[in-house]
Order: sequence, then structure tokens, then C-alpha cells
Amino acid sequence: MEIANNLNLITSSIPDHVTLVAVSKTKPKEDLMEAYQAGQRVFGENKVQELTQKHQDLPKDIQWHMIGHLQSNKVKYIAPFVSLIHGVDTFKLLKEINKQGKKNDRQIRVLLQVHIAQESSKFGFSAQEIVEILSSRDFIELKHIEICGVMGMATNTPQKEVIAKEFQGLKNTFDHLKQTFFSQQQSFQEISMGMSGDYKIGIENGSSMIRVGSAIFGKRNYQI
Ligand SMILES: *Cc1c(COP(=O)(O)O)cnc(C)c1O
Repeated sequence: MEIANNLNLITSSIPDHVTLVAVSKTKPKEDLMEAYQAGQRVFGENKVQELTQKHQDLPKDIQWHMIGHLQSNKVKYIAPFVSLIHGVDTFKLLKEINKQGKKNDRQIRVLLQVHIAQESSKFGFSAQEIVEILSSRDFIELKHIEICGVMGMATNTPQKEVIAKEFQGLKNTFDHLKQTFFSQQQSFQEISMGMSGDYKIGIENGSSMIRVGSAIFGKRNYQI
């Protein structure tokens, strides 16, 4: 009941145009099924093995998002079914996703991760690096990926103004890329920003997709 309640509370408080990704990493299938039965269909995981296992065991109409750091050599395991990969942060990874998309005869939807936090530990491109990739010849040849937008993680801080500023920066980057490279592409429309602690700030600053774990499923026993 707890999970369904949490979920309904969040779903009813966010605008319709914002997609809620229920981040179920480390949680047992029973917990995911409770969310599923309450109507949730979009789930996010950050480990390839766990994602693959849950995809196998749970209902087939679930859309699975890979939200964590992804190693190139593991793309092949999720390529057949993954609905969106949030954290693409190198050109090498983009090329591998394209290769696996081709093998599976599909276009794989991805978000480019932008480094917006002060912490140097967080992954992601700079806006300038993205511009360079999108302008390159190599990029044009990648026919089996679909760039659907950007993703970012704010600094882990209680200072709301800091988080808001970083999210505004991501929104600006999105707007610039949209205008420069994707003005004709409907599919470039997602800004994945906001987690349990900061999704409201994310939405206030233009988020279209929030990734919420502990506010739905409770604290994780181990942090990943
Ligand atoms: C775990 C995780 C989340 C969800 O975090 P919560 O604070 O539990 O909502 C969101 N995004 C990424 C990339 C994560 O790894």
C-alpha cells in the first residue's frame, strides 16, 4: 500500500507533460509489481544485470530505462528491449549503442548526459563537447540511435538555489541544442532532471522527465 500511495501522491502533483520514471534499483520484484498495479509503466534501473533480469521476469508492457553509468561492453545485453538510455556520456558509448541498435534492427533512444554539478565525480559531457559531436561527420553515420534530449544530475546539496541554477543551465543547453541541431526533430524533447530530493526544482525549471526512487520505494538498503 505504501508504494502505491507514494506513487499516487507524486503522480497527482506533477504536470501531465512530465514523465515519472520509477527508479526501482535494488528493490525486489514485489515492490515493482505494487507500483505496476497502481498504474506505473516506466521503470528505471542503473545496473545492466538487474535491468535484464527484471525485464525478463516482469510484465512485457513495462518501459525500461537505463539511468546509470553504462559501460560499452554491456550495451548488448539491454539493446534488444531498452526503451531509453539516460546517461550517454562518451562518443564511444554512442557508437556502441548504434552498433547494437543495428544488430537488433532498431533505433535505440538515448539522452546525452550533461555535466552540470560542481562535483567532478559526476559523469557527463560539457555543452561544448556535445556541440562538437553533433557537428561531426562521424555522428551523421549513426542511424540506429535517436537522440531524444539531455539528462543531468545536480550537486548533492541542501541549497536549492544552487540546484536551480544547475537545472537552468541544463535547460539552456537543451534549448540551444534544439535550436541548432534538432529544430525539425520532434523526438528531441526530453530534459531528464530531478530525483526524490529535487524533482520539484527540476519541474520548475523545465524538466520533462523525473527519476524518482526513494520517494516511491523508500530508502535503499545499499546505495549505488
Ligand atoms: C538512484 C538514482 C535516481 C533516484 O534517486 P532517488 O534519490 O532515490 O530518487 C535518479 N537518477 C539516477 C541516475 C540514479 O542513479
